Amino acid sequence: MTERTIPYKTYLTEEEMPKQWYNVRADMKNKPAPLADPATGNPLPAEALEPVFCKELIAQELDNDTRYFDIPKEVLDFYKMYRPSPLIRAYYLEKLLDTPAHIYYKYEGGNTSGSHKLNSAIAQAYYAKKQGLKGVTTETGAGQWGTALSMACSYFGLDCDVYMVKVSYEQKPFRREVMNTYGAAVTPSPSMKTNVGKAILEEHPGTTGSLGCAISEAVEVAVSSEGYRYVLGSVLNQVLLHQSIIGLEAKAALDKLGEKADIIIGCAGGGSNLGGLITPFAAEKLREENDYQIIAVEPASCPSLTRGKFAYDFCDTGKVCPLAKMYTLGSGFIPSPNHAGGLRYHGMSPVVSQLYHDGIIEATSVEQTAVFDAAVKFARVEGILPAPESSHAIKVAIDEALKCKETGEEKVILFGLTGTGYFDMYAYEAFNNGTMTDYIPTDEDLEIGFASLPKFE
Ligand SMILES: *Cc1c(COP(=O)(O)O)cnc(C)c1O
Repeated sequence: MTERTIPYKTYLTEEEMPKQWYNVRADMKNKPAPLADPATGNPLPAEALEPVFCKELIAQELDNDTRYFDIPKEVLDFYKMYRPSPLIRAYYLEKLLDTPAHIYYKYEGGNTSGSHKLNSAIAQAYYAKKQGLKGVTTETGAGQWGTALSMACSYFGLDCDVYMVKVSYEQKPFRREVMNTYGAAVTPSPSMKTNVGKAILEEHPGTTGSLGCAISEAVEVAVSSEGYRYVLGSVLNQVLLHQSIIGLEAKAALDKLGEKADIIIGCAGGGSNLGGLITPFAAEKLREENDYQIIAVEPASCPSLTRGKFAYDFCDTGKVCPLAKMYTLGSGFIPSPNHAGGLRYHGMSPVVSQLYHDGIIEATSVEQTAVFDAAVKFARVEGILPAPESSHAIKVAIDEALKCKETGEEKVILFGLTGTGYFDMYAYEAFNNGTMTDYIPTDEDLEIGFASLPKFE
């Protein structure tokens, strides 16, 4: 093991915590494309977004110029309940791998929601309250976002109406119950409460739902209820802005230790934790002040960056949301039913997509049995039982550390450990039993999704 001159855990003090979020769009030469009207494909002005989203969040969504946004005091106060999050030196993983690399991870699982999603939930709930709204609606897949939003809404005294993908609602009753404990109303989606839900149930009776479908329901309820708006836990520019707290803290902690990251790795579902972690580093790369290798890791069974198309696409199944230009598999793409590792959204954050398109970051895909193998290795030596999503980053961090073992290079590797896996034990069970399989979609499978892309470009 490397001589332990650096502590196992590094925390910033409350004083050292960032007081502003960082907006990478201000440093991007090629800005992400604006949200567009799903009926015409034309860019949407702020007014057109107001029935759906909170006003101040729309301003953040559309602002490509302001580099830093002050974090409101009320949000900072809540952050201080569970932040700063630790930057952990993975000494025991290094020892297991016998690598000269320095491996660090930024751990975002140390709050009740069990993931980084609370960083944006608390900001979004704050702006909704400030606007005088009664409540917000949202969708949740595995339940982390819904949990985070329920916590934030109970803190600020807002109603929280969550549409939860039916299969998760049934398979993860405890996640649902955490949301109920925080006072949220949780409805399995598709439901009979909305026109979109009814239409989907009529066309596909017995369907267990999808994220895209739950989004459509949540948007419909928001636009048709007085005093409600819709909030989203990933993909959007505003969410990446709020999540920049992860990267800003990580960078400040590394600076404090006198370490400079060589490789930065994050898992990519909708791109929010990845964007939050990497953008403060990507900033220096965009300004040509520093170089970093930045790697987005996605599941081989839902490979939006590595095999998707860079195009305007629908964000939801019901096609009620604005269009986003992103790397996408098409809103009609449905990951194979054996896929247990999360990160199953068909698209990717427009910011992450543009950075990837411009070669600022790279992307790779990994198969789920390899992901769980890495998860188990990590859990056994580092103590934390990681979320399957986070384990995609662990897998690639291990691969990179093993490359350093070959070359003898003492690279500094930083990855995002986005959350804990306590509610994913069916997936761990399948891995432990040896019944978990891999599925890589064929080009023909992907064509089905691409056929669902909108046609007016
Ligand atoms: C939601 C989630 C992700 C993926 O979402 P991103 O927006 O891509 O960050 C990753 N890890 C955990 C633990 C999550 O809850």
